[in-house]
Amino acid sequence: MLNDCIFCAILAGEIPSSKVYEDEYVFAFRDINPQAPVHILVVPKKHIPCALDIDADNAVYTAKCFEAIAKIAKAEGLEKGFRVVNNCGEDGGQSVMHLHFHLIGGRKFAEKII
Ligand code: 5GP
Ligand code: ZN
Repeated sequence: MLNDCIFCAILAGEIPSSKVYEDEYVFAFRDINPQAPVHILVVPKKHIPCALDIDADNAVYTAKCFEAIAKIAKAEGLEKGFRVVNNCGEDGGQSVMHLHFHLIGGRKFAEKII
C-alpha cells in the first residue's frame, strides 16, 4: 500500500471493490456495510483527506464527484430522491480519511438530521 489509506488501495486495485462508476476524476463503488438498498461511495481519484482540505486547486474533484452522483443516481433508479452524506473529521464521524460522499437511497428516509 502506497500510504495507509484503504481507499487509495481500492483506487490502485490492491483491494477489490464492487465498482459502479469510473472516470478521470472519480471512482465509485458499493459500500461494504450498506445502510440502505443503494449505498455507494463516491471517491475522488486523489488523496484529499477530508472536506476541510477542499481548495481552489482540487475543487474540480469535488465538482466531478457531484456530476458523477447525478449520473449514478439515475443509473440506480433513484429518480424519486436520495441523500448524499459526507462525514468530516472526528466530530463528523469520518472513519476513512480519504474524502468521499455516501450516496444512499432506495428507501424513504423517515429520520431527518437537518
Ligand atoms: P465514513 O465513516 O468515513 O464516512 O465512511 C467510510 C465507509 O467506508 C463506511 O461506510 C464503510 O462501510 C466503508 N468501507 C470501509 N472499508 C471498506 C472497504 O474495504 N470496502 C468498501 N467497499 N467499503 C468500505
Ligand atoms: Zn487515499
